Amino acid sequence: MKDYYEVLGVTRSASQEEIKRAYRQLARQHHPDVSVEGDDMGARFKEINEAYEILSDPERRRRYDLFGEEGPAASLFDRGFEGFSSPFGDIFNLFFGRGQTRTSRAPQRGRDLLYTLEITLQEAFEGTVRSIEIPRNDVCSACGGTGLEKGYEHDLCPDCGGEGMSTRTRRSNLGSFTSTVSCQRCGGSGEINTHPCPDCEGRGSRRIIDELEVSIPAGVDDGDRMRITGRGEAGHRGGAQGDLYVEVRVSEHDTFSRHGSDLHALVSVDISEAALGTDIEIPTLNGEERLHIPAGSQPGDVFKLRGKGMPEVHARSKGDLFLTLEVKVPRKLNAEQKRLLKEYQRIESQKKDAPGMIERLRKAMRTS
Ligand SMILES: [Zn+2]
Ligand SMILES: [Zn+2]
Repeated sequence: MKDYYEVLGVTRSASQEEIKRAYRQLARQHHPDVSVEGDDMGARFKEINEAYEILSDPERRRRYDLFGEEGPAASLFDRGFEGFSSPFGDIFNLFFGRGQTRTSRAPQRGRDLLYTLEITLQEAFEGTVRSIEIPRNDVCSACGGTGLEKGYEHDLCPDCGGEGMSTRTRRSNLGSFTSTVSCQRCGGSGEINTHPCPDCEGRGSRRIIDELEVSIPAGVDDGDRMRITGRGEAGHRGGAQGDLYVEVRVSEHDTFSRHGSDLHALVSVDISEAALGTDIEIPTLNGEERLHIPAGSQPGDVFKLRGKGMPEVHARSKGDLFLTLEVKVPRKLNAEQKRLLKEYQRIESQKKDAPGMIERLRKAMRTS
């Protein structure tokens, strides 16, 4: 039997760092590409790699320390393999419970379910109650989930004698592999049902359409999930029922966009309204509101209506409503409007010539 510690030239108490260092040095010396002696050196390189592979992995090193060299099967099919028969395979099975695929007879909780519920922003604002239908498995009321006819119990599986497993041995040029698989007849539980419940045919559950009312609290946001305990899939062997999760999707609104509990929207006025100021009616999710646009408002000005945003779930506070001003330029003008705007334009251009005049006026004021 090879001594991997000897191969790497380290002591049995060598640290991972020491092992790594020793390996690097040896690998450099014995790499087939740098060696001139051919095959022999190749074999030595392989040995070094093998030793490093085992000793650099704490779990494999521990096993090696306990049981000695691992067989080739072990190093090739280490992780995830059902079980192996190196000289020590059976011992591994014994000590580490490898290949245990037996299905537990313990109660198993049912799966959780996810239901996606789409609501409008208005519904999210007000809160709503929706009835939904969930197709799912429910515990059979006749047998209470055992799947057995009244007065009967499970029998031991005759195929596996209640072990729930069967062992298969395969031979290959790498050695023989023993794998342990679940018993086909009982599915690994070790027991069979010879008197199934007539209501559920032994399944322990029935397919139902569960109708329930979900109450959606005001302020709910897109992606929020609510848990409804015990309305998921039925458990197995008397295990608890899973839970139902209702995930809320809030659809987009034509007018408002939402950022947390704040709402944003655009309001439009025409040029004269922006210049002269006005009061306008604006829609909110809670009815019409009056908004004062002061004279001289500019496109892009933002008005904040405190507390007119979304409510927060289970809180009294509310977000704000932000309104961004849009100023519409008329596409068409009638003769009267055109005349007035031209007049406006004329006054504006006079104003542009004004600085000279104003300068003169200022001077006059200073000297007086
Ligand atoms: Zn069986
Ligand atoms: Zn039943």
